[in-house]
Amino acid sequence: MKNKKTLLVALTSVFLASACSYSPLAEQPIEVSNSKIEIAQPEAVKNLLATDSEALWSQDFDHYQDSLLLQVSQAISVLVKKGDLANADLEKLTFYLRVYSSFGPDKDWPEKTAEALNNALVNLQNMQGFYQITSTTARLHENYAVALYRLYFLEPLRLSTADHIEPLARLIDLYASSDLIQNSADNNSEALEYALWEIIRASAILPYEATRKNKAEHLNIFSEEESLSRALLAFIVSENATINGDDWPRQHASWALANYYNVYNKQYLNAYYQKSEAEQKQLDDDEITLPVQKKMTDLDNSLWQALTNSMRNISSKKPVADDDSDAESEAVSGSELGTTLGSEALKTLFSVPYVVSTYRGKSECEEGSLKDRCIAPTVEEATPIKHICSDSLFIRTQKMTKAQLDDSCNQLISQEAVFHEKLATSKEPAANDFNDKLRVIVFNNAAEYNKYGQLVFDISTNNGGMYIEGTTQDPDNLATFYSYEHFWVRPKFQVWNLNHEYVHYLDGRFIKYDTFNHFPSNLVWWSEGLAEYISKGDENPKAFKLLNKAKQDEWLTLQQVFDTKYRDGTDQVYKWGYLAVRFMYEKHREEYRQLAHFLKTDFFDGYKKLLDESGKQYQAEFNTWLTEHNANFVDVNVEKNPQKPRQFYRYTYKDYLQPTHLKETSQHMHWQYWHENALKDNKGITVTKE
Ligand SMILES: [Zn+2]
Repeated sequence: MKNKKTLLVALTSVFLASACSYSPLAEQPIEVSNSKIEIAQPEAVKNLLATDSEALWSQDFDHYQDSLLLQVSQAISVLVKKGDLANADLEKLTFYLRVYSSFGPDKDWPEKTAEALNNALVNLQNMQGFYQITSTTARLHENYAVALYRLYFLEPLRLSTADHIEPLARLIDLYASSDLIQNSADNNSEALEYALWEIIRASAILPYEATRKNKAEHLNIFSEEESLSRALLAFIVSENATINGDDWPRQHASWALANYYNVYNKQYLNAYYQKSEAEQKQLDDDEITLPVQKKMTDLDNSLWQALTNSMRNISSKKPVADDDSDAESEAVSGSELGTTLGSEALKTLFSVPYVVSTYRGKSECEEGSLKDRCIAPTVEEATPIKHICSDSLFIRTQKMTKAQLDDSCNQLISQEAVFHEKLATSKEPAANDFNDKLRVIVFNNAAEYNKYGQLVFDISTNNGGMYIEGTTQDPDNLATFYSYEHFWVRPKFQVWNLNHEYVHYLDGRFIKYDTFNHFPSNLVWWSEGLAEYISKGDENPKAFKLLNKAKQDEWLTLQQVFDTKYRDGTDQVYKWGYLAVRFMYEKHREEYRQLAHFLKTDFFDGYKKLLDESGKQYQAEFNTWLTEHNANFVDVNVEKNPQKPRQFYRYTYKDYLQPTHLKETSQHMHWQYWHENALKDNKGITVTKE
């Protein structure tokens, strides 16, 4: 080391820099001398740089070491100052941010960590030459974009998203007009495609996360700065919206814009709920409007126009081969434009992913800015496989095998027996209930559920499945529950919430009189608690973990659980509902069955009275029961893996958007649990290792 003093002051390392290149940043002490550039990294960073990428994608590497993210961020800023875009360490450290996002701690960061990380990324995109496209900068663009969408949803970084809207817009513009990207003979074009892919994904996922978090300041970042949404619209009409005949970039940009729509929609709803009831009604009847509604309509219209123009661009060049069997990527040649097929293709593009990702569907497609702009697939197109389990149960699905169908039938039928036994139903339906058949629809994953749930079945798909009982008195009614495969635990096969939803059907048919909304109150604990209890039996560690985490004086009373409303949140609805039902069944079976009897015979007053009495009478006993369970509680998950990697949130991306040629290798990977499982159980089916 040439300068001891620097060693003492520097937060990260020693900086011995040449005098000519840059001015120092405020946060970091810089020593200037005439010697050549020499950067000594702290031990942790040196160690990271010496570890190969495969080993970094693992818990064997210590991602929890003290201040690691802070040190990496500061080291990036130091490297940025060297001004060398091709520096291998710069590439690796920016790449490591995505690894860290899965494996490192996501909270309790040391002071200044978020600030240092944001500085690093601001500095990075300010480097001279960053906004030029080469295979080297493409890699940095990719790393930059991934770091943004994998880390900026975390609390300390959320509002710093504002610093990156314009840079992302600049990158979108840059890639829209680059002619390097179309040259498939060039080995670099793949690097460029990965970069473009991640840049658009960042442009989609950042507003998506803001909508999920639903905080005004965070949402405003996207509604106040319009450069990125404008860049995405312009991109759709650009040359590179389609690469070598594949329009994956255009579809991704449409999906990103759907996430903008959702930001506006969330702002609308937030404003709506602050209005008086009278004003809410005026809004419902379109007698008054809110300013943000215009943004939503404008976006629908602008996107429709952009897609129309982009299809003209393509058709004016050449017909495009369609080697994809998916209906939504139908090819259009010049002569077909303006014909039925041409307009179908345009509607397809507009509907998927855009309309469905805004959670609008069939009924919304008949009016306003969606009118005549959507496709309307049939039930058979959406779910081509029909499988009959029994006289009262059939499954419609997309991809299940015979064995999976048989297993699912058996699972449901065996659960039915447990239900009848526990509730002592004598298998007698409630009076006037004609729901003698149940249709179970199983989609391949959440993205398919979203697509067809909206366009075919006209249900809201912003959830984990749904049971629609319908009008039980109508002999033509077809009760249906909509579900999807538990796709994130593959290759293990399971249908998400299958058993839970099925209990709703049984409850509706054999216990509760009339339709879902018939009874005025106190039915949430009953319905959801029962569905949880029958489907999980005595195995529900999450409910007991909730209990264990709460202080004893914060435990809900039995009466509070009986009074649960859906807006009380999922913990109270499902976990506390489960605890109360299980307690009543185990300790006061007679009363529990009496409650069922009152619901079946449509005697709500009796139900309510018995519920209130039970709430008072059994409170002390309920508390004792909870205390006993809590004393025996062992948190198996924590003991197994306290630092388990965090998966990419499973609803964020849509698998049908994934460009098949952009494989997830260790250089381009996102850690997801199903990868880990796939690697363990069924070598290499998901991840292509480099
Ligand atoms: Zn439910």
